[in-house]
Amino acid sequence: MMLFDLTNEQASFKQSIEQFAREVVAPRAAAIDESGEFPADVMRAAAPQGLLGVTIPGAWGGAGRDYLSYALALEAIATASATVAVSLSVTNSLVAELIAHAGREEQRDRWLRRLASGASIGAFALSEPDAGTDAANQKTTAVKSSGGYRITGRKVWVANAEAAAVVIVFASTRPGFRGEGVTAFLVPMDAPGITRTARADSLGVRGLGCMDLELDIHVGDDHVLGEVDRGFGLAMWALQGGRVAIAAQALGIGQAALGEAIAHAGQREQFGQPIANYQAIQWMIADMATELDAARLLTWKAAAARDLQQDCAFEASMAKLAAAEAGHKAADKAMQILASAGYRRGSVVERLFRDVRATEIYQGTSEAQRMIIAARVLADA
Ligand SMILES: Cc1cc2nc3c(=O)[nH]c(=O)nc-3n(C[C@H](O)[C@H](O)[C@H](O)COP(=O)(O)OP(=O)(O)OC[C@H]3O[C@@H](n4cnc5c(N)ncnc54)[C@H](O)[C@@H]3O)c2cc1C
Repeated sequence: MMLFDLTNEQASFKQSIEQFAREVVAPRAAAIDESGEFPADVMRAAAPQGLLGVTIPGAWGGAGRDYLSYALALEAIATASATVAVSLSVTNSLVAELIAHAGREEQRDRWLRRLASGASIGAFALSEPDAGTDAANQKTTAVKSSGGYRITGRKVWVANAEAAAVVIVFASTRPGFRGEGVTAFLVPMDAPGITRTARADSLGVRGLGCMDLELDIHVGDDHVLGEVDRGFGLAMWALQGGRVAIAAQALGIGQAALGEAIAHAGQREQFGQPIANYQAIQWMIADMATELDAARLLTWKAAAARDLQQDCAFEASMAKLAAAEAGHKAADKAMQILASAGYRRGSVVERLFRDVRATEIYQGTSEAQRMIIAARVLADA
């Protein structure tokens, strides 16, 4: 028996998502990148495949699958379109899972079925102009008023915001207390007082529907997600799952780059033979395959930890760091192997090269992942 065999259920889910990625997602990928439009049609088609609410229990309308199945699915989707994969990671990991984890019964009833059926898309608003890596530095405030809160502030880079029906907003309820005084709120996107502004063009993952939000809203006490002042821990919990998903996304992009490189090396002839015959090319391909597979093992380990442990911050950070860097290097080497054929605007490798870069930035930069990893390694020493 192989050491890391998938169960029959995991293998058949993986196969069905690979087919969906090939037949439905891949043909749309270039147009999503070119137009920068949110791929609402693909997200709608993803729902019956069980790609929304992947890990949400069946009782709340989800597919009830394990985290490894989810990671396998996102890798398969990302080989076709990085944009669709990250959009799925936000609505699944950062929104639906957090509502399932911390929501009150009526919040779960109101949102989980809609999120899992694709009727609603979710967004996650943590970042602010002065709160990037230092996410605890929240300047958005939520001030108690009768029966609820007045939330004022500005959120930036809110993925899915263009299409989302619900957003989880983080705001300071105890200014000056940083992570000890942040509360999470579940806010319908049509709440009066939310102004969305489009972001300037992005380098990659261009159909992600990223917008900035100006907030001046009143919400009832029943919009608090989890406990007051405990929202920062919830954001970090959600990001652990999100980082496993982004690791899977980076693997998918890297795997697509490897596929493009192999295909090109086999058919492009120079000096009278395919360039795949040259050791310089073979070694690049060997390194791409090895680094992606090493990162895949860390990603699968982190996915297993997400299922088994309350806290998988360490495993998730290692997986995201390794996969994002392996994906980046794979796209870079694919560009080298294709040379001018890859550098051409509109080539698949050119898109992969741009898309993969964001995996080292969003849901915590690679430096942020190294901080988490180093803190644990040093504490355990
Ligand atoms: C495409 C895209 C989608 C996004 N989607 C969302 C979303 O849906 N919701 C959301 O809330 N946010 C989102 N973000 C924001 C994202 O999470 C932040 O960009 C990210 O956390 C980094 O913050 P920053 O860009 O402000 O960089 P900064 O924090 O300003 O970092 C700048 C540089 O300094 C480094 N750095 C910072 N502090 C330290 C330190 N202590 N030690 C060493 N190095 C350090 C960083 O690693 C980086 O290299 C998105 C971003 C992008 C690009």
